[in-house]
Amino acid sequence: MVPGVRLVVLGKQGAGKGTQCVRLSHYYVAPHVSTGDMLRAAVKSRTPLGKRAKELMDRGELLPDELIIEMVGERLGESDTRARGFILDGCPRTLAQAEMLEQLIDPVQLDLVIDLEVPTALVLSRLASRRVCVDCGTNYSTGQPPTVNWTCDVCGGEVVQREDDTEEVISRRLELYERQTAPLIEFYRAKGLLAAVDGTGTPDEVTARCVSVIEDRRTRGEPPEPAEPAEPAEPAEPPEPAEVPGPAEVER
Ligand code: AMP
Repeated sequence: MVPGVRLVVLGKQGAGKGTQCVRLSHYYVAPHVSTGDMLRAAVKSRTPLGKRAKELMDRGELLPDELIIEMVGERLGESDTRARGFILDGCPRTLAQAEMLEQLIDPVQLDLVIDLEVPTALVLSRLASRRVCVDCGTNYSTGQPPTVNWTCDVCGGEVVQREDDTEEVISRRLELYERQTAPLIEFYRAKGLLAAVDGTGTPDEVTARCVSVIEDRRTRGEPPEPAEPAEPAEPAEPPEPAEVPGPAEVER
């Protein structure tokens, strides 16, 4: 395994993006960049951004694209992400964000976009039982609580139900996902960057599937899923070999 990677992870709320991004971040020694976590931290410390974000987040609405991309741009300009890439969780959420992200990281490219596929019935039951550490964002569930009295195993913070994990807000967030985020799957598939990964099963099983598609991409340089052929008669071009993102090569 070569450290460093540039990944986007897509998937409905409750698909397990947060859990898998943390695991992949440890595996690839690449920073986990979660826009939801960044915004929750801003809300908690009552920054101007946090005050603005809270109301929209509580209703399950999306924040303005420019604001999100500015926040992500700052994070991706820091030395750790410049050196080892990033595992982007929760962004892009709209086509406009995807296009702005492309410009932001230009001239480098994403290595891969993983779409974690989980049936809606399963995400609903996962969201209902989800609990999260208010300090570090580690996820738990009512079935797998922290060891001691709802305090986080990682940092000792309080573990609670997220305010936007209520039935009404969840249904709004899933509706927005279908309308605004699902089109990104076609956007990235057309670029030959998309890998659909079965998000059901244990966290270990899902991580193993993710690592397998990433390694396939890095060692063979093939798009994990063939892009839809525009014209069946066109002869297929051999794929460009993928860059192996060694620490020096992900420098922007
Ligand atoms: P998440 O933890 O990814 O589910 O994000 C929680 C909330 O933060 C979302 O419901 C949105 O209100 C806001 N948010 C997070 N990421 C984005 C984004 N990329 N674009 C717009 N709003 C976002």
